Formats: sequence, C-alpha cells, structure tokens
Amino acid sequence: MDMAFTREDLDVRERARSFARQHLWPHEITLDENGSLDEATEAGIRQGVLDYRLNAINHDPEHGGQGMTIVQQCIVNEEVGSATNGLWGRVWQPPICLKQGTPEQIAAYLVPACRGDITVSFCVTEPGAGSDAGGIRTSASLDGNHYVINGEKCFASHSDSAEANLVTTIMDGDPARPTLFLVDKGTRGFDMRRMPRFSQRSGHEHPEVDLVDVRIPATQMLGDVGEGFELTKDWFVEARLAIAARSIGMAIRASELALEWARERQQFGRAIIEFQGIGFMFAEMATEIMAGKSMIYRTAQEIDSGLDRRTAHAKASAIKYYCSEAAFRVVDRAAQVFGGRGMMCENPVERLTRDVRLERIWEGTSEIQKVIMAGQIMKRGLDPYAGWT
Ligand SMILES: Cc1cc2nc3c(=O)[nH]c(=O)nc-3n(C[C@H](O)[C@H](O)[C@H](O)COP(=O)(O)OP(=O)(O)OC[C@H]3O[C@@H](n4cnc5c(N)ncnc54)[C@H](O)[C@@H]3O)c2cc1C
Repeated sequence: MDMAFTREDLDVRERARSFARQHLWPHEITLDENGSLDEATEAGIRQGVLDYRLNAINHDPEHGGQGMTIVQQCIVNEEVGSATNGLWGRVWQPPICLKQGTPEQIAAYLVPACRGDITVSFCVTEPGAGSDAGGIRTSASLDGNHYVINGEKCFASHSDSAEANLVTTIMDGDPARPTLFLVDKGTRGFDMRRMPRFSQRSGHEHPEVDLVDVRIPATQMLGDVGEGFELTKDWFVEARLAIAARSIGMAIRASELALEWARERQQFGRAIIEFQGIGFMFAEMATEIMAGKSMIYRTAQEIDSGLDRRTAHAKASAIKYYCSEAAFRVVDRAAQVFGGRGMMCENPVERLTRDVRLERIWEGTSEIQKVIMAGQIMKRGLDPYAGWT
C-alpha cells in the first residue's frame, strides 16, 4: 500500500499552505475585533483564491472547478482550516449537488459559483428539524408552472447575502418526498427574520429565515420530486471529510504554537516543555493528530480508488466524529500550555478554541455520527471500520 502524496498533491499542499499564511492569517485579528473585513481585503482574498487555483476544488474543470481528487481536497481543507475565525470559508466550495442540475441550472448557478461570482447557501435546518432532518416541514406545492414554498429555516449560513439559496422542502407536506429548490436572492417572501450572534466572528451570518408564499418557476427545482435527501448524501460525505481535515489543520496549528511557547516559557528555572506533565500533553496531541490524519487520508485515497458510496458514507461519519472531537481536545490542551495567555483573543489558540467547537455540531453532531455508525454496525458488522482490504 502506497499512501505517500504524489508530486501534484505536494504542489496542492504548498499552494494551500502559502495561501492560508499570506491571505488568511494576516486578517484574523481584524476580523475578530471588527466582526467583518473591508471590501478591499475581501476582494484581495478572493483574488488570492483564484491566483492560487483554490476555487471550487470540489468541482470539475468543465464547470470551472479545480477537479481535485478527494485526497487533494482534504489537503486544502487541512491547510486552510488552520486559519481562525472561519476564514477557510473564503475558499469557496459550492454545494456538490449543483452538479445534478439541468444544463440551464449549471450555467446559471454552478459555473458562476465555481468562478466565485455568486454564493449559494444551503438551507436545510429548521426550528423543529435539526439532527432529525426527517422533521422538515417547509412545504412546496405546484401551482400552474410555479411552486409555492412556505416554512421556516434557521442557521441558514450566508442566506442573507447569497445570490441563490438551496432550500430543502417536502412536497405537498409529505415527508416522504423531500425536494430541493433554488431560491434567488430578492425573491418575494424569502425574508430574514433574525440574525443571532454566534461565538465565532467570521463576518458571515447564520440567519433565521421565513418563507411565506415564495413563488418560483418550476424550473428552479433541483433534481426531481422526492430526490432531496438522495442529492445531499454526497454532500455529507464531502462536508464531513472537509470538517475532519479542517479540524486537524486547527489542531496542528494550535499544537505548533503551543510547542514554540513551551520551549520558550521558563518557570521554576526551566522551559516548561521539560516538565513531564507538559511533555505528556504533546504526546497526546501528536497521537490524536496522527490518528486523525491517518483516517482521513486512508479513506480519501479509498474514495479516489472507487470505494462504494455506502461505505464512504459510513466511514465519513467515523472520521468526522473522531477528528472533530480529537481536535477539540488538542486545541484545549494547547490553550492549557499557554496558561493565562491561552485566553487572550490576540492568541490564535484562543480563537481556535472558539472555532473548533462548531466542528462537533454541524453537518451532523458527534452523537448523530455515532447513530449512523451504530446503524451501519448493526446491519453490516464492523467491517466498514475494522476491515482492511
Ligand atoms: C454556526 C452554524 C452554522 C450552520 N450552518 C448551517 C447551514 O448553513 N445550513 C443548515 O441547514 N444548517 C446549518 N447549521 C445547523 C446545524 O447543522 C445544526 O445545528 C445541527 O445539525 C444540530 O441541530 P440542532 O442545532 O437543531 O440540534 P438538535 O438536533 O436539537 O440536537 C441537540 C442535542 O441533542 C443531540 N441529539 C439529537 N438527536 C439525537 C439522537 N438521536 N441521539 C443522541 N443524541 C441526539 C444532539 O447531538 C445535540 O447534542 C449550522 C449550525 C451552526 C451552529
């Protein structure tokens, strides 16, 4: 088994690493202090994404994406994940299900999204449907050659600014027929109700949205009636691996900073790294990082080699669960190594302690990943996890 990165993989890593350090890290403190970046800075970052060929890493070149392998996508996410305040999100990765659109939808949404000319938000969660996406109640019904959508969404990241919003609905109130729609910005009835404040200051909102008699042409349906969940399955695998890779990127940056500090900081007449209590923390951090990276890149390589969708889905849950939880522990230990300085907002490790919390929650909480895994284990035994071919 050869798990070494290829020359192309290493080139991708170099590009993503330089981009993160030159275009993301320098803006972290301003973003944390002001809650936003000015237009010129945002434009500079955007141009950087294009110059470093990091736009739409998850889409095919024919649509304007970079056509990266899953291994390479994980490499990019690991590198940009090191940036605090969710700045990794500036490296746009349009929803993968847009590929399933009609030629007209691909031209109108996917191609400009890959170029970075438009943003597409993804509105699944509702007040009554968080972990239980089957509880979605936002309903669509046909009226002539239009659909009319009514319901409410929450945590709808970017939906206040995105040019288009992918909205999950159920057809005619029937939960067995989940259906996706593209709702353009400014469509009447698609209204921001509230923008709650969140612990991470990323410059992006996660609004609560009301949909009241939102009337859109039937051609705005993505896929077919009832295909809503099927179309989001590949998104979940991709998003969960991305979260895992970003989590490991956060863990590595936090532990590197802590190590530098532990070598420098003197207490009781010696560098604190010399205390076994501190050294053991680094041993634990290194082990968890190594385990996480091994899981991510092994499975990414398997997916690139044609792993079946069902097994990829099963493994992505284990990887997201482990890496987000491990990164949480690593970042927390790194903050502990800094003592009181680990609580100063100017310290990237402090900001990472806020950022890393989210990774255990979205795209399925840790508990939901375990529910998925337990279901797989009941049906298929341990093979998806313990088997090795
Ligand atoms: C900053 C941010 C951005 C987000 N962006 C988006 C977005 O762009 N689009 C979008 O659609 N959503 C988004 N989300 C929503 C996110 O995916 C949900 O918050 C997440 O899925 C959990 O749902 P919930 O918050 O309703 O928690 P709940 O489902 O209410 O869960 C509460 C607790 O119960 C546990 N729990 C629930 N069911 C079970 C079970 N069966 N077994 C054991 N434990 C269980 C959970 O693990 C959790 O600990 C975002 C969330 C945040 C915080």
